[in-house]
Amino acid sequence: MRTDRTFTMLKPDSVEKGYIGAILEKINAAGFKIVAMKLTQMTRRDAMKFYEVHKERPFYGELVEYMTRGPIVAAILEKENAVADFRTLIGATNPAEAAEGTIRKLYATSIGENAIHGSDSDVNAAIEGAFHFAGRELF
Ligand code: UDP
Ligand code: MG
Repeated sequence: MRTDRTFTMLKPDSVEKGYIGAILEKINAAGFKIVAMKLTQMTRRDAMKFYEVHKERPFYGELVEYMTRGPIVAAILEKENAVADFRTLIGATNPAEAAEGTIRKLYATSIGENAIHGSDSDVNAAIEGAFHFAGRELF
């Protein structure tokens, strides 16, 4: 299992508010190389599958609504220690608890609408990347 890749989505709120450029700037500045990227929109089926681990949680329905309401930017990023370093860069799930300077502190609205996704393990990074990209879309 490789440890130098993670998967991210700039969530619909980030795209709606025009934050794509600013967030990509932070990602570049932190030393991540963009290996794959696209503007895309998840269907209900996609979002339900992507967030299947949360299906028993009370916020699952709202999460699916939120993630499907508009386009996202999906990307695979490469850097040494990618998963952990990217989680540090994005900050805590709840922006109120996110460290100063993190992407969620700067751009998220609430624990639900929190601007950006980052994989939580190398295994999930591989699964999530393969969910959104075919092999020929990686560079
Ligand atoms: N979420 C929510 N309410 C919660 C926890 C999570 O709406 O109490 C949403 C939020 O968009 C979060 C996503 O569900 O990013 C997935 O939750 P997870 O615990 O995996 O947080 P993450 O890994 O994104 O920090
Ligand atoms: Mg998570």
